[in-house]
Amino acid sequence: MPQYDMLLLRFGEITVKGRNRSRFEKAALAHVKEVLRAYPATEVKNEYGRIYVVLNGQPASEVSEELRNVFGITSISPVMVTGSHIEQIIPMAIRFIESMNIVEGTTFKVNARRVWKKFPVSSQEMNQIISAPVLKACPNLRVDVHRPNIELRIEVREQGTYLFSEVIPAAGGFPRGTNGKALLLLSGGIDSPVAGWSAMRRGLEIECVHFHSYPFTSKKAEEKVIDLAKVLAGYYGQIKLHLVPFTNIQTTLAQSGHENVMITLMRRAMLRIATALAERNNAMALVTGDSLGQVASQTLASMNVIGRVTSLPLLRPLVMTDKEEIIGLAQRIGTYDLSILPYEDCCTLFVPKSPTTNPNLRIIEQIEASLPQLNEQIEEAVLGTETVMIRPGEAIQRKQDEEPVVQDKWF
Ligand code: ATP
Ligand code: MG
Repeated sequence: MPQYDMLLLRFGEITVKGRNRSRFEKAALAHVKEVLRAYPATEVKNEYGRIYVVLNGQPASEVSEELRNVFGITSISPVMVTGSHIEQIIPMAIRFIESMNIVEGTTFKVNARRVWKKFPVSSQEMNQIISAPVLKACPNLRVDVHRPNIELRIEVREQGTYLFSEVIPAAGGFPRGTNGKALLLLSGGIDSPVAGWSAMRRGLEIECVHFHSYPFTSKKAEEKVIDLAKVLAGYYGQIKLHLVPFTNIQTTLAQSGHENVMITLMRRAMLRIATALAERNNAMALVTGDSLGQVASQTLASMNVIGRVTSLPLLRPLVMTDKEEIIGLAQRIGTYDLSILPYEDCCTLFVPKSPTTNPNLRIIEQIEASLPQLNEQIEEAVLGTETVMIRPGEAIQRKQDEEPVVQDKWF
C-alpha cells in the first residue's frame, strides 16, 4: 500500500444544484469534520468543490472507510502529494506505482492534468515524460491507454501535485439534513431501516417512530428497535426515536371482530398517530418500508386505503425494490443481523389467517366510525409517546423500575 498523504472527497449531484451548492457543501463539510473527530490529527480543506483530508499519518484505508458513509460524497481517492516540479513528480510517480501490486503484465496509463497553467510542461507532454521512467523502473508493467489496470492520475496545482489512482465509491445522495425532515415508521423488520437509510441518503433528516404493544411485545423487541435506530444514528450522528404505546388501540381493533382487515386498521391508526407526531416535530412527510406486493398490506389497493388516512406525503423509498436487493442493502448498512432477530413485532401478534389484499375504503371508514373509543385512544397514544435520543456507540441505560413516561429523555 502506498503511504498516502491525503484523501480527496468528491461531491456528486449537489454540484448541479446551483444556488444551493454552498449550503450543501457546508453540510457535507460539517458531517466530514464530525466523523474526523475520531482522528484528531487530520486536517480538512475545502477547495474548488472538493474536500481534502490531510491525513498527517492517520491510516488512509481506515479513515476512508468511515468517510465513505457520509451522504453527499460520491467517491474518495487516496492521494500522494509532492511539489509541483517535474523532478519531484517523476520519482513520486515511480514510488506510487512501485508500492502497488504489480505483477507480470499489469497495465497502466498516466493521465496528467495541468491545473496550474504556469507549469511549463503540457498535460500531453507530461504523460510521456512520466510514463517512460515509470516503465523503466517497473519492467513488469505495460502501457494500455484504453483499459489499463492502473490509471495514475496526476493533477498539477500551484500549491502541490496530487497523484492518485484508486476511486472508492461512497454513499452519494445529498448531504445530511439538507432536504427537510420526515418521520420514519421503524418496525423491527428488514425493510424499514433500509427505507430510513435511503431517506437519509436523499438528504432527509429522520426521526423514528415505533409502535409497541408492551407487555404483549417484550422489552427485547424494543431493545432491538433501539439497536436498529442506533445503527441509523451511526450514519447521521444522532437520531430521535418516538416510542408509541399501541396496546390499547390494538386491543380495540382486535376486539372489533374484523379480523381480515385488522392490519389495514392497524396501519391506518399508526399513520394517524405518526401524522400527529410529525406535526408536533415539524416533519413534512412520513417514510415507510413498504414494497409493492410484498405482503397483503402492501398491495396497491391496501396502500391506497391505508394512505388515505393522512394528508402528509407518504414516502416509500423501497416501493419498487425487490426483497433480494433490500436484503443486500440491509447487509451493507449493517441492520440485517439485527432485523432477523426473532423478537415479535406488534403486528405479528394479531396476524389474521387470511388478511385482505383488497380492502374497501368505505367499509374501513365505517368500521372506524363504529369504534367510538378509537379517536380518544389515538390521542392518548400521542400523549403517551416517549421520546429518546439515540447516539451511536453510547450505552443505553434505562431506569428499570420506572414507567417510560418522561418526554425527551436523552440517552
Ligand atoms: P419491515 O421489514 O419494515 O417490518 P415488512 O415487510 O415487515 O417491513 P410490514 O410489517 O407490513 O412490512 O410493515 C410495513 C411498514 O409499516 C414497515 O416497513 C414500517 O415502515 C411500518 N411498520 C410496521 N410495523 C411497525 C411498527 N411496529 N412500528 C413502526 N412502524 C411499523
Ligand atoms: Mg414488519
